[in-house]
Amino acid sequence: MESDRPTVSRRDLVAAGSGMLAGPLLAALGSNATAAAADAPASGAPTTALPMQNPLTQYPKPPFKKQHQDAPGLAGLMDPKPDHGETSYKGSGKLVGRKALITGGDSGIGRAAAIAFAREGADVAINYLPVEELDAKEVVDLIRAAGRKAVAIPGDLRDEAFCKKLVDDAAAQLGGLDLLVSNAAKQVYVESLTDITTEQFDATFKTNVYAMFWVTKAALAHLKPGASIICTTSINAYDPSPSILDYAMTKGAIAIFVKGLSKQLIGKGIRVNGVAPGPIWTPLQPSGGQSPEKLVTFGGETPYKRPGQPAELAATYVLLASQESSYVSGEIYGITGGHPTA
Ligand code: NAD
Ligand code: MG
Repeated sequence: MESDRPTVSRRDLVAAGSGMLAGPLLAALGSNATAAAADAPASGAPTTALPMQNPLTQYPKPPFKKQHQDAPGLAGLMDPKPDHGETSYKGSGKLVGRKALITGGDSGIGRAAAIAFAREGADVAINYLPVEELDAKEVVDLIRAAGRKAVAIPGDLRDEAFCKKLVDDAAAQLGGLDLLVSNAAKQVYVESLTDITTEQFDATFKTNVYAMFWVTKAALAHLKPGASIICTTSINAYDPSPSILDYAMTKGAIAIFVKGLSKQLIGKGIRVNGVAPGPIWTPLQPSGGQSPEKLVTFGGETPYKRPGQPAELAATYVLLASQESSYVSGEIYGITGGHPTA
């Protein structure tokens, strides 16, 4: 299979959703596929859309209930529960037949990307820590409910040998690799530099920077022209929060990795982009990413006066993964609730 010309099965057509396959894809599929998608409008125009609404009032605002979990935390234990697009994300066939690996795919932003990728027609492997099995199981079920293959590979990304094995196992079980979302992270708030231990500094860099380097390096053996790498950085790469300085440093490193690697890989036809979220309602925050006191007002400092929900990032990951953004590489998309990154 050529990664930029996916094979498309009957299952792909079903999973791609109700009559929303675009013209060029239909042409690539041939006459049987055209018949199978007979109710698709000739123009390729969508038949439904999310209801238009004011984004300021779309989701919960602070104050939130005081809460704390041990790291890495579980989405299922958050109050209110995050929205990862479970009931809202509708696919339109943008990633039919693609093979994706998403680190931190069990919860938060990674889960939102996993749900969206599957509903767009991709088979998805997720990595997470073994203690996150409950969250991971929900994501696996959601991917399968979308009619796609789900591969769950738990393990600790701070181990170089595991990172290589993760990528090779994902590619073996998916039958290739077209999309890599490097998204896992550690964030621990510590008010003063003098209180950041070497152990924490090391673990944060291992999880956020080294793992991305090891996973991406291993993925290059599998990625073909048309493939897309997406790294999750942060608003902290531009405007660091003083209480998560070591984390902010890693996010700066990720942003530079995206820009530099894009220049290196564009000659191979592989695109590299980043996403820079602002405050998003995920387990990263109540499990030590913020103090329990600050979590009560989390997101209140943004122009939206609320945190984002993981579901609000999914479409950007899909866009960066899809062939529709073929001329986009080396970019970092801010999703910040109105706090510009540049
Ligand atoms: P999350 O807790 O849902 O996801 C982070 C994931 O990282 C965890 O689910 C866990 O599976 C994984 N992880 C952590 N340590 C690991 C390890 N040693 N080995 C394997 N996996 C490990 O939180 P999230 O907010 O969705 O985080 C996703 C990305 O978004 C991260 O890169 C984070 O820095 C970034 N981000 C989040 C926010 C925010 O406010 N939530 C803001 C900016 C950027
Ligand atoms: Mg998690």
